[in-house]
Amino acid sequence: MESGQKKTSELRKTTRAIHAGLEHSIYGEVSVPIFQSSTFAFPSAEDGAARFSGKQAGYVYSRLDNPTVRALEESVANLEGGFAGVAAASGMAAVSSVYLSFLSRGDHVVATSCLYGSSRTVLESELSRYGVEATFVDSSELSNIEEAMRAETKMLFVETPMNPSLRLTDLAGAAAIAKKHGALLAVDNTFSSPYLQRPIELGAHIVIHSLTKFINGHADVIGGMVVTADKEHYERVKKVAILFGTTMDPHQAWLILRGMRTLGLRIERAQENAMKLAQFLQSHPEVTWVSYPGLPDHPQHELAKRQMEGFGAMISFGVKGGLEGGIKLMNSVRLITLAVSLGGVESLVEHPASMTHAAIAPAKRLEAGISDDLVRFSVGCEDFEDLKNDLDRALRAK
Ligand SMILES: *Cc1c(COP(=O)(O)O)cnc(C)c1O
Repeated sequence: MESGQKKTSELRKTTRAIHAGLEHSIYGEVSVPIFQSSTFAFPSAEDGAARFSGKQAGYVYSRLDNPTVRALEESVANLEGGFAGVAAASGMAAVSSVYLSFLSRGDHVVATSCLYGSSRTVLESELSRYGVEATFVDSSELSNIEEAMRAETKMLFVETPMNPSLRLTDLAGAAAIAKKHGALLAVDNTFSSPYLQRPIELGAHIVIHSLTKFINGHADVIGGMVVTADKEHYERVKKVAILFGTTMDPHQAWLILRGMRTLGLRIERAQENAMKLAQFLQSHPEVTWVSYPGLPDHPQHELAKRQMEGFGAMISFGVKGGLEGGIKLMNSVRLITLAVSLGGVESLVEHPASMTHAAIAPAKRLEAGISDDLVRFSVGCEDFEDLKNDLDRALRAK
């Protein structure tokens, strides 16, 4: 390491997020440059050959590797405590590259039933065409996972907290089951970010992110990441990402690096707002129930305290009036924005029964913990009083 360059690995998480990607600074720049170059010149034919064979370090072509993208990969892997990261064009590109890397014909997957919609659909409708089978279980009970495991189970895929019920899965327990059955544990950590939860420390092999959400945090870019605990899995995902072309663009990586610098500040503020709003909603006459891992009456509050370093910024709650009540509330908010997605500085609400999950039969929705009255709230960084007033007015107007 040359003087003037930064080594961040032994620093704390907020500091590491702020200094992310600057370990390889060239001119002392304090923001990672955008290396907007599709290809890289070789000093000689021999150097070109050595780079291609992997005998010489250096860049070749941006689908394979790019300095700006690599800075983001190193930063997210560093925050997750993993071996290395592989950036992807979207969260779904990250999910798909994990499936394509590790699942073959005849393999079986056990997954959280309310997995992110597209992650579930790819397994059910696409990978099934290639002979991969999946069983979906309520993973908040470890016994459900254990019962679904088979000899050919290759992967256990868990999302915690779950979307939108905000129930949790015990990650250390899930890791023990995966280990016993010789399966890989993959965790979608989008809802928490490494700032609040680090699955690799609890025994996961693979962590997946939609960087679109908390890590970028500004609702202005799509991106994904796979972080692996060890070298062998990294090399496999990297190879598949290059071959299938799920790679991220340098400009996209730069925007996400920029957003990531305030990860700690944003999450601290948003989860402080979320805690206060959850308490406010609990006492509101138009609200029937509130699910937030930070509330002492959340059935897995103790688990949340154990495996997370904060309770996050996602709340779900029930409104009086069921389906109609939910729709009316969506049409009554003003400051809080009616939109899907989550994890940005701005607060967003959505009503799964009439929107994201409307295509699912009501009985199946209920099975996944999605009642007609459920409202999902991604709490942002606005002033708490403004959020409270908007919500209160909208709830009374509905
Ligand atoms: C948004 C999201 C995804 C998909 O990410 P994209 O960036 O939209 O492709 C996957 N998992 C979770 C939990 C998400 O919230």
